[in-house]
Amino acid sequence: MPMYVYEAKEPKKGCAKCAKGFEIMQSINDPKLTVCPDCGTEIFRVIQAPGLGHSETDLHYRAKRAGFKCMKKVTKGEYETMY
Ligand SMILES: [Zn+2]
Repeated sequence: MPMYVYEAKEPKKGCAKCAKGFEIMQSINDPKLTVCPDCGTEIFRVIQAPGLGHSETDLHYRAKRAGFKCMKKVTKGEYETMY
């Protein structure tokens, strides 16, 4: 099931959950949420660019690899990724 991110339209009115935004697992057939299930504040669905989170993680990963000696020789011929 896809994960959707919702956020309060007016975070000041929202609860701790929706003011910062929350993720919820919904079926494609489920109706879009319009209010926070916890406090009833109006929320909207945050459109997420597919793969953005992944590529960012990948970037950090590559940065760490480039900046640090992150490979450790564990045993003969075997390497452990430190990050
Ligand atoms: Zn809320």
